[in-house]
Amino acid sequence: MARFRVLLTLLPVAYALSVPFPYDSGQAIFTGNQPADLPHPDPTHSFWTHSPGANPLAGEGSTGELTDNADVCIIGSGITGVSAAYHLANSIQHGTFPVAQGTNQVLRAVILEARDFCSGATGRNGGNLTPYEFSRFRKQEALFGREAALRLYALERYSASEMARIARTAGWADAVDLVEGGHMDVLFTEEVLQEAKADFEAAVAAGKTLNVTWLDRDEMNSTYGTHNLGARTPGYNVWPLKFVTQLFKQARKVTPALDLRLHTRTPVTRVSPLAAASLRRWELTTPRGAVQCSYVLHATNGYASHLLPHMAGSGPTGIIPVRGQVMAMRANAPLDALSKISWADSVGYWFPRPVADAEAHPLVILGGARESAGSPFEMGVTDDSVVNATVGGVLRALLPTLFPGLYAPGREPEAEWTGIMGYTALGIPFVGPVLDTSDAEGEDSDAYKGQFIAAGYHGHGMPRTFACAEVVVQMIAAELSDREWVAPAWFPRPFLTSVRDKLE
Ligand SMILES: Cc1cc2nc3c(=O)[nH]c(=O)nc-3n(C[C@H](O)[C@H](O)[C@H](O)COP(=O)(O)OP(=O)(O)OC[C@H]3O[C@@H](n4cnc5c(N)ncnc54)[C@H](O)[C@@H]3O)c2cc1C
Repeated sequence: MARFRVLLTLLPVAYALSVPFPYDSGQAIFTGNQPADLPHPDPTHSFWTHSPGANPLAGEGSTGELTDNADVCIIGSGITGVSAAYHLANSIQHGTFPVAQGTNQVLRAVILEARDFCSGATGRNGGNLTPYEFSRFRKQEALFGREAALRLYALERYSASEMARIARTAGWADAVDLVEGGHMDVLFTEEVLQEAKADFEAAVAAGKTLNVTWLDRDEMNSTYGTHNLGARTPGYNVWPLKFVTQLFKQARKVTPALDLRLHTRTPVTRVSPLAAASLRRWELTTPRGAVQCSYVLHATNGYASHLLPHMAGSGPTGIIPVRGQVMAMRANAPLDALSKISWADSVGYWFPRPVADAEAHPLVILGGARESAGSPFEMGVTDDSVVNATVGGVLRALLPTLFPGLYAPGREPEAEWTGIMGYTALGIPFVGPVLDTSDAEGEDSDAYKGQFIAAGYHGHGMPRTFACAEVVVQMIAAELSDREWVAPAWFPRPFLTSVRDKLE
């Protein structure tokens, strides 16, 4: 405990807040409104992307002939873009996505990726697949109303449990290191505990079913070796890139009626309208040539405003690129002593990786501490080719201080990297048709007709992206079938692009 107090005195006061992810600290401080750059061509190497054999699709479709036209063009090969391809395949298979446009009744979809396959946030994140159970419930309810708040949690539960179910059913849960170990929020003080309990009670009062175990200091100390309070909820951890790779392969196998292509190392530099008489609506410019598309899905998250400059800045319709940092640190104890849980406190988030040998000391994936970078807290940054030394220093000190003896003080990580998240003013993503509500013609304008977006997950995309991609695919299917899109029961309306500028 004494050691822990030392840590707290070293850290800014903001760390006393109970915030499992770097949720919205400093958002108001950021005033930049420049569109994001393209992804940096030479990013840091993450454990996920650069472990031997981990990224078999890294350079897929990066040479040879470029697909010159497609029914659906997906920009970005992270979990959003690949989930969209997966939903497209399944919707075609189930007859809910019409295939009338392409030749020979085959729908052609192409994923265009600026760098290696899945080398954005999904290939560089903390690997936590944690649907929020009650965290921040009062704030969500105040912002969006009770029904939408409940749906926000329902979407995360749906998304995470579907991902786990698919991996299990398809038989690749072990291959992607899916661990259903639960999640623990470490709560430093009684005040933080009371705040958490107030959110818990507000969620109960709203009618949410909850699965939470509260642990006192003694239980936490005797079971996990940290003298803090704890709240345990359901949760998973996973090797995100391996999950996305399997999902992509599965999407290709579902139906011969989908011709799914992938071109990595092919940045899209512009989206321009084609003449009304053309077969397709949009032309994507890339250094390798042009791709003509009927529908375009922006699955570019933190980089979205590069192609959609009206979505730059910290306003209600903006997505800000924000740099996060993660490392792979070897523990000083076997997995049994650490537990398979994924953890978070107000400084960072971490989990021990699975091990084949019970005596081995696992690698722990540890991220966060963005606030220690100082204002503007890595906001407006798209350069993931370097790490931040201050953030790295706080992360290195975190676990040896929280778990005396289980981690070696002064030990250097085996890998350290950065990645770019997409933050939004309200902490929730944009899902739906691309709209420019600042345009004089307003949201009814057809200026972007056929372009859709699912992006801006605010550093918490793992339990959100899969469901958001599903919704966008359903929207395109509805438009193609000339029927009204009906929202799934778990979908929160505030995520819609069409309502966003009216929420503040
Ligand atoms: C350091 C870090 C830690 C995180 N930890 C967690 C965590 O533990 N749990 C959690 O839930 N979430 C976490 N997140 C957030 C999570 O990773 C993201 O929300 C999620 O991966 C977003 O997926 P995506 O597919 O939308 O975006 P991305 O994975 O970023 O994919 C977008 C892709 O688009 C490509 N692209 C961009 N512009 C273009 C263009 N013009 N042309 C072609 N391609 C383009 C990019 O190269 C990128 O590959 C973390 C994020 C970071 C960066």
